[in-house]
Amino acid sequence: MLNHYQVIVIGGGPAGLAASCTSAKNGATTLLIEREAKLGGILKQCIHDGFGVLRYQEKLSGPEYAEKEIETLKGLNITVSLLTFVTAIKKTKEGFILNLVTKDGIQEVSGERLVLATGCRERTSKQVSIYGTNPAGVLSAGTAQYYINILGKMPTRRCVILGSGDIGMIMARRITLEGGKVLGVYEAKSTPSGLTRNIMQCLHDYDIPLYLSTTVTKVFGEERLEAVEISQVDEKMKPIPNTNKIIKCDALILSVGLIPENEIAEKIQVPLSNLTKGPIVDQTLQTMVPGVYSCGNALHVNDLADYVSESGEVAGLNAATSRVGSPEYVDLVIDEHFSYIVPEKLELKSPLKTILYFRSRAEYTNKTLHIYVNDVEVMKRRYQKLKPPEMERLVVDFSNYPNIKSIKLSLED
Ligand SMILES: Cc1cc2nc3c(=O)[nH]c(=O)nc-3n(C[C@H](O)[C@H](O)[C@H](O)COP(=O)(O)OP(=O)(O)OC[C@H]3O[C@@H](n4cnc5c(N)ncnc54)[C@H](O)[C@@H]3O)c2cc1C
Repeated sequence: MLNHYQVIVIGGGPAGLAASCTSAKNGATTLLIEREAKLGGILKQCIHDGFGVLRYQEKLSGPEYAEKEIETLKGLNITVSLLTFVTAIKKTKEGFILNLVTKDGIQEVSGERLVLATGCRERTSKQVSIYGTNPAGVLSAGTAQYYINILGKMPTRRCVILGSGDIGMIMARRITLEGGKVLGVYEAKSTPSGLTRNIMQCLHDYDIPLYLSTTVTKVFGEERLEAVEISQVDEKMKPIPNTNKIIKCDALILSVGLIPENEIAEKIQVPLSNLTKGPIVDQTLQTMVPGVYSCGNALHVNDLADYVSESGEVAGLNAATSRVGSPEYVDLVIDEHFSYIVPEKLELKSPLKTILYFRSRAEYTNKTLHIYVNDVEVMKRRYQKLKPPEMERLVVDFSNYPNIKSIKLSLED
């Protein structure tokens, strides 16, 4: 018989755990689907501390943070289905039908509402242009993290890291602590991609050099990587002639960005944002397909797991309780100083208290965020520093402003 649930959550990382917990606490029969053997998502391999400062007021490791979240499911009406893959999904009049491959065989389940909490994936070497051979030893920072922290194996003794993303910097420190040599972190942009905290704690404290406006232009080696060529780049990221240098190493570790994972969303035609690459949502985190919600890194790449859990709670609450028939949207329009804002829409029939997450397009000092409703300024906030790697969060209660027809946000001097 087809099992039926009011809410089906896909993905058992911090976003999916918070969504399932909140959905069940609000009375919805809830199914949590996870393709791996354990809950916790990517946090399982993040053994450094720094998680949970906002949510639990203590510094936890990734596994400790995940364990606290998993504990919250106990005693709630949640069915957890591990080692489960969604092979097909269909939208029906009543909701959704999912075909699943589980360890007990193929199953079909139906749900009234879906929460997509599938996390993000790393950009690979195929998504950055590097010439040369195709040897073993070119791997993403997340894969290196999995080798060392989960499998207990060293994938390198002497490596170069391309990209100054947070996972790359965290892995630079980890490889050094395990006796490996990190020859340098090379970043094509003129500013680092990761958090200042990680530059200080993972690179400076371990004397690992960070080279800006420099990239890897070629790899050498037939079976195993033997060396890489690095070159300085101009402001258009084009290699500058005669600046190339060969560095002998056995691995090239890539930390060149994360992309929201939305394969399932695309199967049911959920419109994605050009800015975040995650679904376009309103303040309830409902996507533009009624009954489908998105949260965590599947929605946009967050900088803190604490915010991921917060968005899981918003999605889980609304999936369990919200019943808007025909939505009425107003766009949140941002100026050119933003790289994105979430949500991109306000749904006028839903509660209007909204958690806004945004990132600036470039580094700015002393900018003021102005929010205009119907072209009248309703709020402003001064930021001493805005940096693209650091996500900003702001709560705005739009119910204070009647007859909303337009919302504009600008970052002004
Ligand atoms: C490699 C890597 C390392 C990271 N390291 C750090 C770090 O050190 N510090 C930090 O603050 N942040 C780190 N992050 C960011 C981190 O992803 C977030 O802080 C947080 O874990 C995101 O939570 P999430 O629940 O949205 O996604 P995830 O934790 O990624 O969880 C998503 C879950 O969904 C499951 N899933 C995906 N697709 C399906 C499907 N089709 N069917 C069933 N299940 C599915 C996955 O197996 C996974 O368990 C890292 C991210 C990556 C990719």
